[in-house]
Amino acid sequence: MDFALPEELIALRQSFAAFLDREVRPLEAEHAREFWGEYPDRDSLAPVVQSIRRRSAEEGFYAAYMPEEAGGQGLSVLGTTLLVEDAARSGMRLALAAIAPPNPAGPSPLLVKLPRHLWDSYVFPVVAGTTTMCFALTEPEAGSDAQSIRTKAVLEGDEWVITGHKHYITNGEHADFAIVFAVTDAEKRAAGGITAFVVPADQFRRGKLQWNLSDSHPAELYFDDARVPVDHVIGEVGMGFFEAMTFLNSGRAYIGAQSLGLAEWALDAAIDHAQKRTAFGRPLAKNQGVSFPLARSKADIEAIRWLVYHLAWRVDTEGDALGVMGDASITKYYATETAFEVADRAVQVFGGMGIMREGPVERVQRHLRMLRVVEGASEVQLLVIARTLGL
Ligand SMILES: Cc1cc2nc3c(=O)[nH]c(=O)nc-3n(C[C@H](O)[C@H](O)[C@H](O)COP(=O)(O)OP(=O)(O)OC[C@H]3O[C@@H](n4cnc5c(N)ncnc54)[C@H](O)[C@@H]3O)c2cc1C
Repeated sequence: MDFALPEELIALRQSFAAFLDREVRPLEAEHAREFWGEYPDRDSLAPVVQSIRRRSAEEGFYAAYMPEEAGGQGLSVLGTTLLVEDAARSGMRLALAAIAPPNPAGPSPLLVKLPRHLWDSYVFPVVAGTTTMCFALTEPEAGSDAQSIRTKAVLEGDEWVITGHKHYITNGEHADFAIVFAVTDAEKRAAGGITAFVVPADQFRRGKLQWNLSDSHPAELYFDDARVPVDHVIGEVGMGFFEAMTFLNSGRAYIGAQSLGLAEWALDAAIDHAQKRTAFGRPLAKNQGVSFPLARSKADIEAIRWLVYHLAWRVDTEGDALGVMGDASITKYYATETAFEVADRAVQVFGGMGIMREGPVERVQRHLRMLRVVEGASEVQLLVIARTLGL
């Protein structure tokens, strides 16, 4: 057993940290106030986010996990996990735009299953950060039970015609194209009856933006007889659900890494505050009522860290085999739930400033609240873990 991080990943972390400090921190300072309103001004933030995405892609960070032939760096899941952690730990909202996962606006590894002649349209631009995409699976009647989707695709000549309604789609508002999951065989469903398609934005209609407590606001998408040529299928017809599942494990490592980084940021901020802020004639930190919860947070963070790194290492060494699924669910469940508690303790240590929009930790807790629901809510992770126990 060797827990040391490879030298090249340590060097990569250092250059990513330097990039964040040099290029993202000034933008964060300039635009911080735009995040505070009840309905932040997304139109003015969009070009800022886009410029960070492009610069990060130019520097080789944004979609580093994509294979080299697709324009990425072929970075390992462990390497990507470390960058996601560092972006979250920086405490900058805009840093999350510098690294694609777990944000589905960035390229999905599923895209490499498209025929090569479509890569100029759907792979290279999104890897370069000049376009964005979205991942459209969830529907009003099918969330956790994703195989119950109603969106359907019917073959007419050499085109697929897609009809349905998706909701809660991250980046649905701006995406240049969507990966859309639709039923192609109602009998088989998850077992060979759901297909993944790439659908350009001129073939769907955007519905309302879905404001919620996090800073990530998804959108509704409508497919009213959307038409795509037969070559717009990702992988094989009927295997869409399976394709999605094979990439789920690394996705869960990235959600875990984001939770880890946010928890680290919240703890660091709370320690700093507890040492500087005085009450009753001494620093807050001199009270065990303050220092013990923070000590517990440190123990929690180390537990999250090693679950996340271990999952990433397993995906790298064993591939995306479904055998890693139990670990992926344990990591997603534990990291998001525990990091939320870490953030809650930090909020408490900050007192009034803990719940202020202008404070450093309030939005961390909101974001973690969201992560406990998306990409398989905690109960769905428990369901998977229970299955691995034969329950
Ligand atoms: C901000 C945000 C962004 C999102 N982005 C995307 C995206 O980009 N693409 C996409 O496709 N989807 C996206 N989603 C959808 C997300 O994945 C779903 O919200 C999630 O899977 C839960 O589905 P649901 O909301 O329909 O809840 P439901 O499935 O209705 O579940 C409600 C509750 O019941 C629990 N539950 C369900 N079944 C069981 C069971 N068998 N046992 C115990 N408890 C159970 C759930 O855990 C949950 O707590 C996003 C959601 C949000 C909020």
